[in-house]
Amino acid sequence: MSANRPHAEIAGAGFAGLAAATALCQRGWSARVHEANPDLRAFGAGIFIWENGLRVLKALGAYEDVMTGSHQAPGYEGRNHHNERISLEVFGPQRGSRMVTMTRQHLYSAMLLAAERAGVEFVTSSKVVSARPEGELVTAGGRAWRADLVVGADGVKSNVRQSLGVMTKRTKYNYGVIRLLVSRGKNDTPRTNPDNVINYYSPDHRVLYVPCSASELYLALAARDRDKASTAIPVRKDIWSGTFLFLAPIFERIGDEGRYDTYETNKLPSWSVGRVALVGDSAHSMPPTLGQGAGCALMNALSLAVSVHAAGDDVLAGLRAWQQQERPLTDHTQSIASRYAETRAGSEGGSKWDAAAMLAARHVPTGTEDILL
Ligand SMILES: Cc1cc2nc3c(=O)[nH]c(=O)nc-3n(C[C@H](O)[C@H](O)[C@H](O)COP(=O)(O)OP(=O)(O)OC[C@H]3O[C@@H](n4cnc5c(N)ncnc54)[C@H](O)[C@@H]3O)c2cc1C
Repeated sequence: MSANRPHAEIAGAGFAGLAAATALCQRGWSARVHEANPDLRAFGAGIFIWENGLRVLKALGAYEDVMTGSHQAPGYEGRNHHNERISLEVFGPQRGSRMVTMTRQHLYSAMLLAAERAGVEFVTSSKVVSARPEGELVTAGGRAWRADLVVGADGVKSNVRQSLGVMTKRTKYNYGVIRLLVSRGKNDTPRTNPDNVINYYSPDHRVLYVPCSASELYLALAARDRDKASTAIPVRKDIWSGTFLFLAPIFERIGDEGRYDTYETNKLPSWSVGRVALVGDSAHSMPPTLGQGAGCALMNALSLAVSVHAAGDDVLAGLRAWQQQERPLTDHTQSIASRYAETRAGSEGGSKWDAAAMLAARHVPTGTEDILL
């Protein structure tokens, strides 16, 4: 490590990049984050964060801001397209995890504030094109930024990963969701508790109803990618209301916005090459069936900082220790999330939150052992 303050150059100001940068600065490092977009902001609609992610947010100094204005759902219900309840699972301390939901922008704003407080430096409109194992990040135009540690947190299509030639096993699914935010209404969920997360399903469609705050509702409308009418943007309200008639008043609030994304799993033989670490979706993307992609990104970003800091001058040893310790849980979570995406388990309203599925949610992440929430 450098004689002076050790330094990290990070590609991508998503949840993984913000978490890694904040955790490194909290440990006396300097960290600069390059974001390709001109603004620092979140993309997408809502997000689930479980106990593991909440613990990481506490360690980063973002927990209180996140909890103010987010939503804690008491239960997760499965209901069919006749609006009959098929299952109900209760979450909270008795299950070893809360199920907290919020808008992505809410989570992002809280994490950005924590990063700024920790002293993270940001460079926007800075597109990373490659990284070099000896410790360099290269941005468009060819400028090379030297560092003790380089982090590729540049998402599922990661330029950093591709430039290093890391063999990547990518699995794409023929199923995905349109994600939207709408306002909450008074009688949105006839026959049940409007604070629950509700998975409404029919043979070909699924609507995930997710309250994010007192006024905001996240909707995930799921369909196969070959079903062009159901996946169209603007949303075909006639099709969705035709299947879920009782949700028509909610669908009426949808504007022209929304985005359809299919799922993807990435598996790499190693999360690092030389002094370059890959974290978040660049290293271990997974289908959102357990709501743990960002949770694993947060855990692995914090533990990355813990490991390389603990290794002192030997960053490579820190990276080896990091993967050895953290990979098994992420591999496990990825494989369950992938199996659920392949079989659509849990989409038919049945229980999917068994002990194996809850392992990540109940995990005490590295770097949060002393935290009491
Ligand atoms: C439909 C869906 C629902 C999901 N729901 C949940 C959920 O409820 N809970 C959960 O935990 N996870 C969920 N996930 C997964 C979660 O969104 C991701 O795992 C998480 O966002 C990964 O964060 P990241 O920082 O690694 O990547 P990203 O969020 O993709 O961030 C990458 C950042 O890098 C920037 N970037 C990209 N390329 C470059 C470049 N070349 N140079 C510089 N910057 C660059 C991007 O602009 C972006 O800001 C869901 C995913 C999907 C698809």
